[in-house]
Amino acid sequence: PFEVLVVGGGPAGAAAAIYAARKGLRTGIVADKFGGQVAETVGIENFISVKATEGPRLVANLEAHVRDYEVDIMDNQKAVSLTTDGLFELELASGAKLRSRTVLLATGARWREMNVPGEKEYRGKGVAYCPHCDGPLFKGKRVAVIGGGNSGIEAAIDLANIVEHVTVLEFDKTLRADDVLQRKAASMGNIKIITQAMTTEVTGDGTRVNGLNYTDRATGESHHVALAGIFVQIGLVPNAEWLKGTIDLTPRGEIVVDERGQTSVPGIFAAGDVTNSPFKQIIIAMGSGATASLGAFDYLIRHSDE
Ligand code: FAD
Repeated sequence: PFEVLVVGGGPAGAAAAIYAARKGLRTGIVADKFGGQVAETVGIENFISVKATEGPRLVANLEAHVRDYEVDIMDNQKAVSLTTDGLFELELASGAKLRSRTVLLATGARWREMNVPGEKEYRGKGVAYCPHCDGPLFKGKRVAVIGGGNSGIEAAIDLANIVEHVTVLEFDKTLRADDVLQRKAASMGNIKIITQAMTTEVTGDGTRVNGLNYTDRATGESHHVALAGIFVQIGLVPNAEWLKGTIDLTPRGEIVVDERGQTSVPGIFAAGDVTNSPFKQIIIAMGSGATASLGAFDYLIRHSDE
């Protein structure tokens, strides 16, 4: 069996695998798709000590770093269940079963999409999901934020400091964001909030976004807004559905971890965007992967006679 079996090949999983291997532990890493969300990212300018890089380049570096160690990499393999009988057993979609003394879950998350025409076509060409990452690309321009929850209004406030103007589109009659955020947004001169707005299409000139269409749900009328960017903030979905009933999840479906990255089941650790960590970023995912891996190491030395 493995001593540390990492599930997920994004920044959190890669960091965890390297830390485990450097402790001399028998380490495996199972990834549906090595690289995770980073593989879909264009520019990365906040990975500290690297002024600017691109997703595919960072993924190649991550993989090369993991391959520098004795880590059994199982790419294009999806985990479907996790059980225990003393050892943990991870079942893959292929039917294969892997056994390990500890498991480290780093399956990440995915942004909820609007599923309207133009969204996929213009992803990375004006359609964005991460204001911390892509906000500065829209300096001095007009953008929209889709979603009036906490993340949407936080994004609007954040962006309003950088861009010329922010239009927030909320589907419901009222915003769901906390009052303090709503007051802050209202106090900024360059945020306009439109409620009961159903976004129907992302428009563009073939290479970049130039606006969006929405329907006013109160009147049924259609409108066009001219924009350079659209930030979709309608939720981040953790890839933990398959763990329901095995370990504790928050009401939002995130894995609950303690300060050592341990879940509600001793021996099962988790890191990165799939956990209840409040901020989701590459550097944070890597740090939590290292933490959880050291947590697993600590667990193994205390349970070495079992
Ligand atoms: P992920 O990167 O999501 O990796 C999850 C891994 O788990 C993948 O390998 C996936 O295939 C695998 N997996 C999932 N389910 C299973 C399963 N059942 N079985 C096996 N494997 C599974 N952050 C920044 O710091 N700077 C940026 O500029 C930036 N830009 C971004 C741009 C975009 C478009 C997006 C989507 C995100 C961006 N982020 C950025 C956020 C950053 O990418 C994430 O915070 C980070 O990738 C999280 O790392 P992770 O390892 O926790 O999860």
